[in-house]
Amino acid sequence: MSAYFRPTAKVVSATALGAGLAYTGYRYWNTTHFYFNTAHAESLPSDSTAALKKMDWKGFTELKLVQAEMVNHNVKRLTFALPDDQSITGLSPITSLLTRHTPEGAFIPVFRPYTPVSDNDLAGTVTFMVKKYPNGKGSGKMHSLKPGDSMKFKPLHEFDYKPNQFSHITLIAGGSGITPLYQLTRSILNNPADKTKLALVYANNTEEDILLRKEFDELAQQYPDRFQRLYTVSKLSSSTDGQVQQGYVSKEMLAKVMPHKLKEANTKVLVSGPPPMVEAVAGAKGGFGWTQGSIGGILGELGYSKEDVHKF
Ligand SMILES: Cc1cc2nc3c(=O)[nH]c(=O)nc-3n(C[C@H](O)[C@H](O)[C@H](O)COP(=O)(O)OP(=O)(O)OC[C@H]3O[C@@H](n4cnc5c(N)ncnc54)[C@H](O)[C@@H]3O)c2cc1C
Repeated sequence: MSAYFRPTAKVVSATALGAGLAYTGYRYWNTTHFYFNTAHAESLPSDSTAALKKMDWKGFTELKLVQAEMVNHNVKRLTFALPDDQSITGLSPITSLLTRHTPEGAFIPVFRPYTPVSDNDLAGTVTFMVKKYPNGKGSGKMHSLKPGDSMKFKPLHEFDYKPNQFSHITLIAGGSGITPLYQLTRSILNNPADKTKLALVYANNTEEDILLRKEFDELAQQYPDRFQRLYTVSKLSSSTDGQVQQGYVSKEMLAKVMPHKLKEANTKVLVSGPPPMVEAVAGAKGGFGWTQGSIGGILGELGYSKEDVHKF
């Protein structure tokens, strides 16, 4: 330290405070900059029911929780009321809703996206399935809400999809990463004009963790020529019904549900799950999770390129 500059206690604490505020501002900007730049208001599809009012998504919209129930040991199904019973979210797939709340005593708001599992043209309510993480700021807040409590939401468009854009889509999900893929599956299969074929490989720790299984099984029964699914878990229970495989997502599992000629033109693979699973299947995302990164993992070995794959 220079002999000409002897900082007083005041100078030291002012510098520390300045650095602290600068860091806080930087973190706040980093979080909000990403979300505000990617989130944008949705427009209704032209064939939507004209009588229904679309939500006003210009900013964050406050919605009241009307129902909450645990669906397994750590996942809650949360239903929020839209402004009136004629409102629909009108979101196009795949769009999540970014939540915003400021924890008590904190200065920086917390932003986390959750993907509706209710249909985007359902009037009156919107429903999410939220997995609680230990000390999770976003999931902890969502799980703490009681009917009558509110949360702020804003659309965050994740992936552009146009009907019949691809001939086949392979969906690879882990845990609560299933929700964006469920939204797309329902929107494709419920659209009679969309002929896209879908295959799902869904990995979890245990059978109890498999979310929306009844819903996926019903879709597979309803559309046997267009939708196949394969569930796999790390730990099989003794009472397994035999429909679930054991182990991490593998080349062999993908070969069972992907097009026979593994890399066909006009196919897409969507991968959504915890970072270690995404990395093993498709290579790690880049830029601390903000960019797609290069293709690696199983899909890399199978010859898939960056254009063929989207990582959530
Ligand atoms: C587009 C998109 C859609 C999403 N939709 C849903 C949804 O519908 N339902 C849902 O439950 N979640 C969804 N998520 C995840 C959600 O946004 C949060 O990341 C998640 O709830 C954890 O946030 P947190 O604040 O509770 O945990 P944090 O406070 O961020 O982290 C708490 C602890 O949990 C660990 N952790 C955080 N996230 C994960 C993870 N994914 N896998 C393993 N460990 C983790 C952290 O390492 C940390 O130790 C979605 C994410 C994205 C990007």
